[in-house]
Amino acid sequence: MIVIMRSNAPQSSLDRVIATIRQNHLRPHVSEGAKRVIIGIIGDDRQINAQVLECLPDVEAVVPVLTPFKLASREFHPEPLLIRLGDDVVIGGNELTIMAGPCAVESREILDTTAEAVHQAGASILRGGVFKPRTSPYSFQGLGEQALDWLAAVGKSHHMPIITEVMAPDQVRKVAEKADILQIGARNMQNFNLLEAVGETRRPILLKRGPSATLDEWLLAAEYILARGNEQVMLCERGLRSFDRKYTRNVLDVSAVPVLKSLTHLPVIVDPSHAVGKWEWITAVSRAAIAAGADGLIVEVHPQPEIALSDGRQSLLPKRFESLMVEVERIARAVGRSVRVDRHQMIPEYVPAEVLP
Ligand code: PEP
Ligand code: MN
Repeated sequence: MIVIMRSNAPQSSLDRVIATIRQNHLRPHVSEGAKRVIIGIIGDDRQINAQVLECLPDVEAVVPVLTPFKLASREFHPEPLLIRLGDDVVIGGNELTIMAGPCAVESREILDTTAEAVHQAGASILRGGVFKPRTSPYSFQGLGEQALDWLAAVGKSHHMPIITEVMAPDQVRKVAEKADILQIGARNMQNFNLLEAVGETRRPILLKRGPSATLDEWLLAAEYILARGNEQVMLCERGLRSFDRKYTRNVLDVSAVPVLKSLTHLPVIVDPSHAVGKWEWITAVSRAAIAAGADGLIVEVHPQPEIALSDGRQSLLPKRFESLMVEVERIARAVGRSVRVDRHQMIPEYVPAEVLP
């Protein structure tokens, strides 16, 4: 249930509602919008009589929340969540957020070259895996803490916040000390102990969708993080497992973007790289994602994809990433959004990524 207060309701009226909720052994969640305050009721709200709340001063309406997730719901937070990183980056606002970098941090030099290129092209956040979830135990597993130090140093030198994946609760504290955003990988979307552990931090979380997760399961996974008090969660659609994976690695659920936008206030990011699995098709699906209303992209880029230790096949060369940014900017403009850098000023002649050598 949510309690919608009249606009300009005084604090004394809010306090009465909050006290009534607490008296019923439930938890109030106060959300202050531009016009009015909404108080969500967390817990088994069948114990509380809606009419009791409706009769309190300055209560405009008491509305049931029908979705199984509460803190992640639009009803609780009608206004979109803005996640701020330093002075420059705001995720979830009008400006799109582009995160880019190698699948895995392999060396400081490769990372530095990549960071320089993606930053120049307009990416504002540097990605790089240091703990890698791999299907085979014999595949490259990431360079761990050494790579985390490189990522932090390179991010700093290019003035880019960094994002990296945490795979286990015992990694959370040390990764949260150095990374600006913690990524929960698709395979860990329902690792509830891990969700609770990142929920205890105050770092923004990028929660990837499990390869076969429904939207409700995904939003309930977000709820685990929110319920621990970490309100800064963003969702990342990265493609679903489907019956035909001959040509693409996964199937991007573009429709999830507008549906999520109606269900939740959390920003929605799209990962075209893991969705299609081949660099040739990344631009096309990125265009679709931005057109559908995504708040940003997370894209894999590598200066020498042929020697990449993971996901080289889907990694864009830096110059292809530049072309992608031109396309993103065009679509962004068409749908009333913006990107950080006006690429038209920087690339006089646009060459589609698909035809670059
Ligand atoms: C990644 O971002 O490198 C990754 C492993 O992604 P996912 O969890 O979506 O497979
Ligand atoms: Mn990858």
